[in-house]
Amino acid sequence: MEPRSNLRVLIPRQDIAAAVDTLAAAITRDYHDKNPLVLCLLKGSFIFTSDLVRRLYFPLEVDFLRLSSYGSGKESSGSVDITLHLPEGFGGRHVLIVEDIIDSGITLSFLLDYLADKEPASLRLCALLDKPARRQREVHVDYLGLTVSDEFLVGYGLDCDEKYRNLPDICILE
Ligand code: 5GP
Ligand code: MG
Repeated sequence: MEPRSNLRVLIPRQDIAAAVDTLAAAITRDYHDKNPLVLCLLKGSFIFTSDLVRRLYFPLEVDFLRLSSYGSGKESSGSVDITLHLPEGFGGRHVLIVEDIIDSGITLSFLLDYLADKEPASLRLCALLDKPARRQREVHVDYLGLTVSDEFLVGYGLDCDEKYRNLPDICILE
């Protein structure tokens, strides 16, 4: 892709890979014998999830959930829609949610409450990035990759109006 003057690399691909390796090691320790349901939150987590699960060398299942709270802007709208249904047999499973970035926390606090009601055997959260400066709801991240400052990021699955998801590095959009 052409270099873009409005993009600045914040987390280069090799640093992302190292963070994913560390997360995979921790998740392996905890889930190697649990046949977990890895729940990828679309769309932003699709690349992270695909890299992560390819470093998990034990039985697991992958499913996808699409939530939206952002619309097309950069600010959370404060309400969350679930636009995909939960997988069959969700109750009783060890569920690991995989999210790209926790920002206000609105999306995840809603989802964690919603899923807890469905009575999984366990429910934990893995996030590649945490942006604590903008937190409005407290969210416990069980497996965290990297903490970032309050800037709008794109790449490695993260978009701005559906663009830039394919960038291999995580970049600041200026
Ligand atoms: P929250 O409900 O925590 O405010 O929103 C989390 C969601 O907002 C993330 O899953 C992600 O889709 C989006 N988001 C938060 N921060 C950023 C960012 O810096 N860049 C992009 N592209 N999306 C973000
Ligand atoms: Mg997201």
